[in-house]
Amino acid sequence: MSDREAGGATRAWLDEAVRRIEADFNRSADTHLIHLPLPHYPGIDLYLKDESSHPTGSLKHRLARSLFLYALCNQWIGPDTTVIEASSGSTAVSEAYFARMLGLRFIAVVPATTAAPKLDAIRFHGGEIHAVDDPRTVYDVAQRLAVETGGHYIDQFTYAERATDWRGNNNIAESIFAQMAEERFPIPSWIVCGAGTGGTSATIGRFLRYRRHATRLCVADPEHSVFHRHFADRLETLLPEGCGSCIEGIGRPRVEPSFVPGVIDRMIPVADADSIGAMRALSQRLGRSVGGSTGTNLWACLRIIREMAGAGMEGSLVTLLCDGGDRYACTYYQDAWLAARDIAWTEAERVTRAALGA
Ligand SMILES: *Cc1c(COP(=O)(O)O)cnc(C)c1O
Repeated sequence: MSDREAGGATRAWLDEAVRRIEADFNRSADTHLIHLPLPHYPGIDLYLKDESSHPTGSLKHRLARSLFLYALCNQWIGPDTTVIEASSGSTAVSEAYFARMLGLRFIAVVPATTAAPKLDAIRFHGGEIHAVDDPRTVYDVAQRLAVETGGHYIDQFTYAERATDWRGNNNIAESIFAQMAEERFPIPSWIVCGAGTGGTSATIGRFLRYRRHATRLCVADPEHSVFHRHFADRLETLLPEGCGSCIEGIGRPRVEPSFVPGVIDRMIPVADADSIGAMRALSQRLGRSVGGSTGTNLWACLRIIREMAGAGMEGSLVTLLCDGGDRYACTYYQDAWLAARDIAWTEAERVTRAALGA
């Protein structure tokens, strides 16, 4: 086969790969925006963007789709490429879904402590697991596996912010504003999210500025994460002892390349116990369980809501329901698991339940 013909075959494969992802998007519905009435705060409306309703159960579905399209259109992935990712779980679940859609081998490099149901979900979608004992080595191990297999390290932590279409294309921010259009306060005072790669906050923060909305962006960050320290001084980039947070998906020991502090208006550090308490109270209120990072988001929202109410302000807040609680049934929803880690969550649950008026 000549080089031209070989290139043509690759291009035909690429066309089909992109078509499959676009067709999947075309068949999918948008995620719901849930209004959570707050009887104690009649002037403030709180909304949850329910990212758990994606086919692979979390906001990482959007990221995985964008990362695959970016890598495909850069010609970094071909028909025989093994795709490798460093992931605490959720991204790998979504990427395994897209890799299978394209008929590609997929390997997830995960910390050995990752919740078992997430590993099951990765395998369910046809992915392979490569567990490492030290979470800080996931990047290097993923890179090494890529070299060894002649594959591609898709690298969410580097490419999340640039693979996502931040100006529109129904990204999470554009979707939120469209769904808020008929609400009492259609332009939220605040959008609150977490940071794992930092991709979601970068997309929302840029979109707010591009569309010239007055909305401010708050990132809720686990106490033992480097992001909020870096936000405060722009200097600290690494926690030498690693990340001591147990909230999966958010809070990192190093400032990831996709974390864009300049588009964030405020960061609120949240203790793990408060994330868990808020998660538990919200799950009771919704009648279905949510994940830990959703609790982190809610805890930060309640702080802003109290400040707004105290200042006599009215308005709306939007935050993210990042994933469901099923994946944490053996961890955050087990009292013994939490007690073994000295996570005293009951007071935060009581406070949250009172604030939600439930
Ligand atoms: C990844 C993740 C986040 C944070 O999103 P990023 O866009 O990566 O910053 C929050 N919650 C969960 C459950 C996640 O998996």
